[in-house]
Parts: sequence; C-alpha cells; structure tokens
Amino acid sequence: MDIIQLYQDFSIDFVTEGHKHSRPGWVNTECPFCVGNPGYHLGYNLDNNFFFCWRCGYHWIVPAISKLIHLSEHETRTVIKQYGLFITTHKEPIVKIRVKAHRLPSGVIPLQRQHISYLQSRLFDPDYLIKLWHLMATGPVSTLDHISYKHRIIIPFIWNGQQVSFDSRDITNKSISKYMACPKDRELIPHKEILYGKQEFWKSTGICVEGPTDVWRLGPLSFAVSGIKYTNRQLRIIAKNFKTVSVLFDNDPQAKIQAEKMVAELKFRGVDAFRVDIEDDPGSMKQEDADYLVKQLIK
Ligand SMILES: [Zn+2]
Repeated sequence: MDIIQLYQDFSIDFVTEGHKHSRPGWVNTECPFCVGNPGYHLGYNLDNNFFFCWRCGYHWIVPAISKLIHLSEHETRTVIKQYGLFITTHKEPIVKIRVKAHRLPSGVIPLQRQHISYLQSRLFDPDYLIKLWHLMATGPVSTLDHISYKHRIIIPFIWNGQQVSFDSRDITNKSISKYMACPKDRELIPHKEILYGKQEFWKSTGICVEGPTDVWRLGPLSFAVSGIKYTNRQLRIIAKNFKTVSVLFDNDPQAKIQAEKMVAELKFRGVDAFRVDIEDDPGSMKQEDADYLVKQLIK
C-alpha cells in the first residue's frame, strides 16, 4: 500500500520518472493548489513523505491528499492510514484570501552538484540539510515577478505545516543580494511574522539566531528571526513557545545591541532570556563546536 496505489484507486493521473516534471524519487500529479495551468507540478517525495509543488512549494500531506481525492480532511486522515502513509503532526494551516498566489520562482529543481559543493564548502552536510529543511534550488534561469532568483538554494518557510514564504541563498557569492526572500505580496504570512525553524522539534528551551544558515548549523532546537530587526509578533511567538531562550546573534556591534534589547523584551514577557556571544556567527561555526554549544545551552 502506498501513494501510487492510492492514486490508482482514486483515478488520479500521475507520472513518475521520465516525465519532464518528474524526477527520481518523486511521483507527480497536477497541483490542486496552483492557479492556472496545473501541469504535473505536485511531487510526492517517496523517501521523505511530503508534497512539494515545483511552482508553489511545500504542502502538508493531509490538505494535499484531501484536495486530490475530494474528501474532507477528516476522511482523508483515514484514507492516509489505510494506505500506510505517515501523517506528520501539524496544526491546521492558515487560509487567507489573497490577490496573488504564493509561488516559487520558475525553474525550481532539486539541488545540483554546484549547490551541494556550496553547502560542503560551508561545512554543511547537504543530504541532512535537504532532508530536514526541504531545500530546493535554481539554475541559471529563474524568475518570479521579474526578479531573478538564479543560482540559489531555495529555503522554504513552513509554518503550521504550510509553506507560507521562502528565502533564497546565492551560491556564487557574486550576487549583490546574498539572501533574497519571497516578494511581499507572494507571502501567505510575512516571514518577519513567523520564526524559521521546525516547530515540531522545539522544547521549552530554545536558541534564537539571525538566519536559516545559523539554524542549519545549530539544529532544529534553534529558530531564526530573519535578521536582527525582529518584530513584536515574533517576540510574542517566542514568549508563547519557550520558557528559556539564549539569543545568539552574529558578532558585530549592532547585532549585540539588538540581542541585548531582545533579551530585555523577552524577560519583560516572562521568558528566562540571556545573550550568548561567540567569536564569529553561528552559521560559520564548526559542526562539532556548534553541537557542543547546543548541548550546553539546552539542558
Ligand atoms: Zn502548486
């Protein structure tokens, strides 16, 4: 029993390897979330049990299958279990009416040799990151709303089980913008109103960092506020989810001021917060040093 059996039983068209929209390890169907031509964009990842549309991004398994088989999410849960598929635990996604649909830049592909080399050059384990953080990539041509996203790693921002935004990291080190986020009017939720991280891994003690690469280094017990200028909404989310927080921003004067400010504001909200200084930035730490630091901070 598996996804292919489910598609066959519910008469859903699908393609596997060999089709232009399909890649090894993926089973693709038309995307019910995409506006306009649906294509065979919605891939089910056989190894890691999630849906990813090459146009609109990550989708949680329950709403995705529910839309495909036209049953309620409640009924869909039963079907998913019957087919031996695994339901990850997530809260219900937020639905908003929007003028523009959330979507990824054109030409999103799995990470290629050059993206993998980039991650290795920064001493990351690419396989581990791809699996945990659902990373994708772009090649020499990629645009969204006339903005070029070429030669980047695409970083989905997932909140309550739904992809709501994305960020991207240039791999050439030649682009003026190292990071380039989703255009504002394409975000389901502004990325400055959520935290980048894995909610399902969080404990009562957390580590707050600046950006995704810091989170990749420190692991899923950490979360990022996308820069040092955090918002009140992010403070509220942190206070709601954590009892203790270490704030670990990059080693520069402005970042230290912001970290100190955040500590004070978190304390005001009843969080046991403190600032941790390191020599450089968390993303550049050696993995074993980072692992050791996390062990010290999360007891
Ligand atoms: Zn889609």
